Amino acid sequence: MATAENVLKPDFGAQRKHFIFEPHHDELRESIRRFVLKELTPHAEEWEETTFPDSVFHRMGELGFLGLSVPEQYGGQGGDYYANLVLAEELTRAESGGLAMGVAVHTDMATPPILAFGTEEQRQRYLTPAMRGEKIACLGITEPDAGSDVSGIKTRAVRDGDEYVINGSKTYITNGHRADYIVLVTKTDPEAGYDGFTLFLVDMDLPGVIRERKLVKLGMHSSDTALLAFQDVRVPADAVLGTVGKGFYHIMWELQGERLIGAAGCVAGAQHVFEKTLQYAQERTAFGRQIGKFQVTRHKFAEMATKIESARQMVYVTAWRFVNGEYPVREISMAKLHSARVAVEVADECIQIHGGAGYMKEYGVERVWRDMRLNRIGAGTDEIMLDVIGRSYGL
Ligand SMILES: Cc1cc2nc3c(=O)[nH]c(=O)nc-3n(C[C@H](O)[C@H](O)[C@H](O)COP(=O)(O)OP(=O)(O)OC[C@H]3O[C@@H](n4cnc5c(N)ncnc54)[C@H](O)[C@@H]3O)c2cc1C
Repeated sequence: MATAENVLKPDFGAQRKHFIFEPHHDELRESIRRFVLKELTPHAEEWEETTFPDSVFHRMGELGFLGLSVPEQYGGQGGDYYANLVLAEELTRAESGGLAMGVAVHTDMATPPILAFGTEEQRQRYLTPAMRGEKIACLGITEPDAGSDVSGIKTRAVRDGDEYVINGSKTYITNGHRADYIVLVTKTDPEAGYDGFTLFLVDMDLPGVIRERKLVKLGMHSSDTALLAFQDVRVPADAVLGTVGKGFYHIMWELQGERLIGAAGCVAGAQHVFEKTLQYAQERTAFGRQIGKFQVTRHKFAEMATKIESARQMVYVTAWRFVNGEYPVREISMAKLHSARVAVEVADECIQIHGGAGYMKEYGVERVWRDMRLNRIGAGTDEIMLDVIGRSYGL
């Protein structure tokens, strides 16, 4: 309640009581942060050159960070979805966008469909070891000729007795070189439109699975990105994940979680580079004063902070709705679109505030811009998000 005393001075440093995070989330945040700062961040530079090692998955599995919201019977921690947001946020402190992405593909993109649609046997065989960090997962949707238009994929799975034979190609696949298995989107009935898709769980060491090429990228250098080929790959009929013919709907559901977690990472990444730049603006001087004290710079920070806060609120409110049983596709698309744009704009402004230092690799700000730039493309481009939002109004 407002009193004469507490309205005197705005409390900018207040630890706000949070509407989604509880004390146990704060404890989790602390423990993930300790791990990230001690075991990941010091290697950020090195992993830009080498990609991050598989041991990161093993270690995170050991610490219980890979299955935060997965039931304990499948090797998880039995927490709620907000725990995944905490992980996505804290991983940005590793200062390695590629690492955060590689882990998120494993935890929030490739494995949730196994929990949601998998059989008990599939969960034990693929989900449990993934949560323990013993198996690494990747997700194969995009193809050389079809990205935004998922319905245009050509990878075929044809039934042959008790097996399916898979032929096709997938590209830009994160973790594609290191993965033990792939959640693969295929067409089983090209005549059936949206009802002709089927997901498969495919072991990456099967004959005919070819890791063709490591792709070289603008950013996210610490992640591996693969071009994959599938040539007469034979899988048993029980490798089908979910329902035959319902793969398109399964993967559209998966994309919602992927977009929301990506949005959370964008907000946290923007916040992190904002804080680094704030410190720089307080230390760097020009014309006899801190650059942060120029009104133009102060306003840049104000603009950035406002954008970040607006994106954060969208992510949290949308996550709250998601957790409370709604399926807010329009708002997830908005949160994804807005957060990705904000992250890129903030990173760009932070380069500007750093001046020449912002252009130098050693300050790590240019890396944030390069890494963040992906978010306007991956998991659905800005244009596709706008289309989803626009169509939701019946247009
Ligand atoms: C580093 C990286 C990692 C990735 N990881 C994975 C992964 O692990 N698994 C996976 O399956 N995929 C992954 N992707 C693929 C990513 O999701 C796609 O690149 C993305 O969905 C866009 O598809 P596209 O590249 O084929 O672009 P296209 O679909 O060819 O689009 C090209 C341009 O056309 C625009 N466009 C297309 N359709 C429309 C439309 N209807 N209206 C308006 N504009 C339109 C797009 O917005 C874009 O600007 C990754 C991509 C990158 C770059």
